Amino acid sequence: MKRSSALFFFVIFTSMSFAQVSSKLQAKLDQQAGEVEAQVIEWRRYFHKHPELSNREVKTGEKIAELLRSFGIEVKHPFAKTGVLGIIKGGQPGPVIALRADIDGLPVTERNGLPFASQERATFGGQETGVMHACGHDSHMAILLGVAQILAKNKSDIKGTVKFLFQPAEEGPPAGEEGGARLMLKEGAFENPKVDVAFGLHIQSLVPLGTINYRPGAFMASPAGFTIKVKGKQAHGATPWDGVDPIVVASQIVLGLQTIVSRQTELTKLPAVLTIGTLHAGIRNNIIPEEAIMTGTTRTFDLEMQKILHEKIKLTATQIAESAGATAEVTLGASYPPTINDPALTEKMVPSLRKAAGEKNVFLVNPVTMGEDFSIYQQSVPGLFFFLGGYNPEAKFETQPVHHTPDFMIDERAFKLGVKAMLNLTFDYMYTK
Ligand SMILES: [Zn+2]
Ligand SMILES: [Zn+2]
Repeated sequence: MKRSSALFFFVIFTSMSFAQVSSKLQAKLDQQAGEVEAQVIEWRRYFHKHPELSNREVKTGEKIAELLRSFGIEVKHPFAKTGVLGIIKGGQPGPVIALRADIDGLPVTERNGLPFASQERATFGGQETGVMHACGHDSHMAILLGVAQILAKNKSDIKGTVKFLFQPAEEGPPAGEEGGARLMLKEGAFENPKVDVAFGLHIQSLVPLGTINYRPGAFMASPAGFTIKVKGKQAHGATPWDGVDPIVVASQIVLGLQTIVSRQTELTKLPAVLTIGTLHAGIRNNIIPEEAIMTGTTRTFDLEMQKILHEKIKLTATQIAESAGATAEVTLGASYPPTINDPALTEKMVPSLRKAAGEKNVFLVNPVTMGEDFSIYQQSVPGLFFFLGGYNPEAKFETQPVHHTPDFMIDERAFKLGVKAMLNLTFDYMYTK
């Protein structure tokens, strides 16, 4: 008896804690999401054709600002260098919701044969390159513009304020420059009025169309680069005993580093990755060089684990070098935290995603080892970041191009669900707050 009444209370409590918008408003939003679809596809094609590199999204930002203004939305531009901040104050009091889209392209030369493929070129890191929306940020901008247009139309139904963050440089600002989510916050994107919650999405070329993937807690990794400079003593290749060979020392370090994750990290807690991506030394076969330089990256889902991993990298590199009479200097590069979806917020909002995609099309998935600077917003407020399916399931999965490659492609039929999901998150959150 006690058990069943407790269960009864639980059912009532959980269903009451998630009061969604009225069916009339929901029907209106769903209809408008359908109506805006063709326009979203057109915007996406425009952005796809004209990609710009991180912190260089000048025309992209102008186009977004112009469109937001045409919807009657208050605009701050340029914001955080080339970004745009749009603000809609609703007709009723309520929370402040941030919706974020990233806007930068990548130094990749497009070769997928799309009629609206990019012909843009630029210089990146001193090299001439093609520029391409090879991560799908063109889709994110177009989807958020669709959401903004619909929200602007339904101002009287909005409880609270919605801020649209069109953020530059998600892929990382050029060396020596500020940018990305950090700069958006530094310039006050979350102030006046203060933001309560943040939502964001990433389209995925390997997630089937019509589906959404999410995970409460650690969802995406913290990527952190590092450099190890090994200094030995130069010698003739014929007489290694006259010097200290940095190539042999660097090789030992590479192998030593591989035991950090496999032998010294508590992998049942959360996964971790350590990769060495470059290793350069020497100029001629019979000269032992003075120096070897390697760079690598770590992926962790917990900042404490990351700290331990980085300490072990330093210890392993310096002690192996010392044992050989060499020195190793370890430099940690810029990083951002893991993308951690607030568990309570995620639980509360998953029904909104289900309502958009259908009960059976929203999946709880394993963490992924890519990173996303949306995580920086989640350090200030509870946030939910999710993946939007972008590949045609009738196509072969094995041949699907992955992000950051010249063949990258997504199916535009994905956008409508993106618009619906963001609208549901926004309205359901403000109507249950
Ligand atoms: Zn990317
Ligand atoms: Zn991306």
